[in-house]
Amino acid sequence: MPVIGKKFLNYEITQNCFKINIMKWVKSLILIFLVFRLFVSSETKLVNIKDFIPDIVLDIRYATEKNFTKKVLYPLPVCFVAEEVAIALRKVNNELKKYGYKLKIFDGYRPLSVQKILWEFCPNPKFIANPEKNPVHCKGYAVDISLVDLNGKDVLMPTDYDEFSKKAYSNYNNLPPLAIKHRKILHEVMKKYGFIPAKTEWWHFNYKNYKDKPILDIPIENLINF
Ligand SMILES: [Zn+2]
Repeated sequence: MPVIGKKFLNYEITQNCFKINIMKWVKSLILIFLVFRLFVSSETKLVNIKDFIPDIVLDIRYATEKNFTKKVLYPLPVCFVAEEVAIALRKVNNELKKYGYKLKIFDGYRPLSVQKILWEFCPNPKFIANPEKNPVHCKGYAVDISLVDLNGKDVLMPTDYDEFSKKAYSNYNNLPPLAIKHRKILHEVMKKYGFIPAKTEWWHFNYKNYKDKPILDIPIENLINF
């Protein structure tokens, strides 16, 4: 009987060790997964949009005084976005050409320090993302974008860029039919390649994978290769 009891005890001990070992493995796997996720999510490669789409038209208003702050906020009229965003935009641009249009971009990656300045001038979350609340431009995963014809000439759109009014809403329809048509073409092709249009700004789109990406505050001048 004592021998059987010992065996029984050994069996119990072995079973408990097995459970403990399994728990250790599960914990290790969770830890590896979390570290991997952190590593992957913090990797954002910002690229110059012109390197991916040489014929895109740049209209970088924040590099001029022609913006709602009336201040020059960028040192040069350049536009950077996350690499996967640039690849998707290239597909959008190629498809738009079939309809006789191409892309014009107003803004892409925006350093957090610039986002804070914009928020000071317009603290309205309908039009400017609160810098405290995950602003997608600061991840390199949002773009402000429009259409031009194949010669780079502006076409009729609902409003000018950064017109903060109901006319800029994506569902506002008291507009010339041509403006509605252009907005529809832009939105349909952008959506096809993974972009999500904003409700309150016809020109603003987030790229689908933006959620777990980090907020960046790299100055534009640090991204430029002189
Ligand atoms: Zn925007």
